[in-house]
Amino acid sequence: MASVSIPACTGALLLDIEGTTTPITFVKDILFPYIREHLEDHLSTHWEEDECKEDVYLLKKQIEEDMKQNRACPVHVVDQTVHTDEEKAIRKVVEDVLWQMAADRKSTALKQLQGHMWRTAYASGRIKGEIYPDVVPAIKKWRERGLKVYIYSSGSVEAQKLLFRYSVEGDVVELFDGHFDTTIGAKVEAKSYERIAEKIGCQPEEITFLTDVAREAKAAEEAGLNVLLVVRPGNLELTEEESAHYTLITSFSQLQLTGRA
Ligand SMILES: [Mg+2]
Repeated sequence: MASVSIPACTGALLLDIEGTTTPITFVKDILFPYIREHLEDHLSTHWEEDECKEDVYLLKKQIEEDMKQNRACPVHVVDQTVHTDEEKAIRKVVEDVLWQMAADRKSTALKQLQGHMWRTAYASGRIKGEIYPDVVPAIKKWRERGLKVYIYSSGSVEAQKLLFRYSVEGDVVELFDGHFDTTIGAKVEAKSYERIAEKIGCQPEEITFLTDVAREAKAAEEAGLNVLLVVRPGNLELTEEESAHYTLITSFSQLQLTGRA
């Protein structure tokens, strides 16, 4: 593997998660199926608790909003096998959630419920955050050399922290100096990277961004960041033009910090 130098002025690394630190299949094959499989059970167990009540309330409001906007809505089938009102109400919430997930809706209501379910799953050890084996050793080395390391992912900050706190490498959340999600802006917009630079307290050119998605790389580049595209198994294929334009790495261990103390 060829080594890749990052600019000597680099003070911070900004890392994407899916397809960069973590297999792109983790969310699709582990996190989302967990929700689908445990949703009804989760609602039944926690139905009377405040947190669950609030999650359900937000989901209902979301559906009402969707109906007002004339978006397609879930069709509720009358299930003859359930009896009590509570069971029926739970069934309806399950259908709503599964429908939102199938439609790939990114509503706050959906994200909040999912976040609560994943928190339980991670804490109980039923799910462990996947991280490629080259990631933690590289980050440790960068930190020893005085670099700061941040995460920028479309998963909520809470979900990001869970992944690293309960990871296959143990609790590594302390390796990061900060986390950003889409509350700072979309990952395909240059403005988001300008805001992140400001928050970190670096000039854009002092930040190196690692991602698997060319559109994100383009936005970061527009904002003046140094960019590396990460090629991992299962990632979306890059076009010839993208491969030619960006510096590609297949492992974090390729990064060389040249010209640094
Ligand atoms: Mg990604």
